[in-house]
Amino acid sequence: MTTGPAPRLARAARRAVLDAVGVLLPADCVGCGAVDRAVCEPCRTALLGPSPHVALRHGLRAWAALEYGGVVASSIGAFKDGARTDAAGPLSRALGAAIAAALHGLPPSSVEVCTIPSTAAAMRARGYAPVELLLARGGIRASKVLRLTRSRDDQAGLGAAARRANAEGALEARRPLDGRRFLLVDDVLTTGATLAEAARALGAAGAAVVAVAVLAETPLRRPEHSASSRETLRDNDIRGGYGGMTGVVDPPFQTRVTRR
Ligand SMILES: [Zn+2]
Repeated sequence: MTTGPAPRLARAARRAVLDAVGVLLPADCVGCGAVDRAVCEPCRTALLGPSPHVALRHGLRAWAALEYGGVVASSIGAFKDGARTDAAGPLSRALGAAIAAALHGLPPSSVEVCTIPSTAAAMRARGYAPVELLLARGGIRASKVLRLTRSRDDQAGLGAAARRANAEGALEARRPLDGRRFLLVDDVLTTGATLAEAARALGAAGAAVVAVAVLAETPLRRPEHSASSRETLRDNDIRGGYGGMTGVVDPPFQTRVTRR
């Protein structure tokens, strides 16, 4: 491991500087590029406007705050892979709305939060874990119960079924989790292969997934088992597209994002 106190401090300092710059100077809006605040008022409305909705994938019922595309995709891409942590506020509130919807009717004290672990390469490149950062803004801390078992083959060009097969066994629990109940949280839901793998790994360790919440979902135009990553890529081929660095497999593509 190359991480230690010094790089961690350097990353924290970089984050603090980026946040401070966002406060002091006009910035390009992460959603539309207008010279304004980190998130201009119309884009803020787009991120906070809709009510969470349900998306079904691999038998999982996920509550999604937003549909992936347009201003939503630009904002998430800039936040995740453009170092625009100054845009965390509205994204965190949107994710919080999805979490509240997912947990509705459940006794919250009995449910822990589980996220998908980032690869070491993604952590090094970003200096922060995007989903954990959004959760922290809302006062939520995830339990670090899952880890990656091995590096994944590049998923680009694989259909949904192949991606699912490729995802199997990618995650494992760090310890037995008998009887524990989890809310799974991720940023972008595409085919759902990553969340399905997380649910499998939690189940294999004796835990149950009682709810799923995501920041945004990519509506699939075809039934899930015929969706191709090529189609998903085309759907998302827009400014500031998703970087694909956190996930195990989902989404399956790498997009170049201009760093500021
Ligand atoms: Zn804007």
